[in-house]
Parts: sequence; C-alpha cells; structure tokens
Amino acid sequence: MEEIEERALGLIRRGKDGILQNQLRLELGVDGRRCARIVRTLLDAKFVGRELVTTGSVRTYLLRFTGGVRKYELLIAGGKFDPCVGCIDECDPARCARLNKWVRALGVSL
Ligand code: SF4
Repeated sequence: MEEIEERALGLIRRGKDGILQNQLRLELGVDGRRCARIVRTLLDAKFVGRELVTTGSVRTYLLRFTGGVRKYELLIAGGKFDPCVGCIDECDPARCARLNKWVRALGVSL
C-alpha cells in the first residue's frame, strides 16, 4: 500500500461516523481524480465501504472503515485454527504433524 493510501485509510478510520470523500480529498491535498483512485484501491481491498450522500447540493460519498480482512481469517484453514497459536510444545515446524496437517488444508504441497 502506498504511503498516501495509508494516510487516507488513517483519516477514514479516525472519522467516527466516516468521512466525506470531498473532505478526504482536501485533507490529502490531492485532486478529485487522484482521490477517487486512492478510494478505489481501499474499496477493492475491502478496507472501506461507501455510500452516496448529498450535502447541501453536492453529491459525494461517505466513506467508512470496514476493517479489511477479518482479524482471525488468516489463521483459519480447512475450518481449523492455526495449531501454533497458543502451542507450548517443543517446536520443530518441519516435523510437526499438526502444523503439516494444517498447511495441507491450505492446499499447499509439502
Ligand atoms: S509447529 Fe507444531 S510444535 Fe511448533 S508451535 Fe506449531 S503446532 Fe506447536
């Protein structure tokens, strides 16, 4: 993610009720086209959602942070949670049956 996209995401996250896209554009100091591209990147990554709103006579988008990939999504494969989370066994990942089984559930060949 580019630095300006991270800044945009930070501004969107900070807005308790979201932020208007035209306000975001002003805060980033970019033109409308550049702002639209930044927002498109964040939408595609599912970091933000948007809805069309009218403020005064101006139509714009209200942007809200949606959280992106859910917090634990990357720790689950084949319906099972990563066996390493909370594990206190002697660790040899190359020989660990639980880890290998879990990795196979990801569809990765070993
Ligand atoms: S690789 Fe196996 S032993 Fe090591 S932390 Fe993961 S589950 Fe535990």
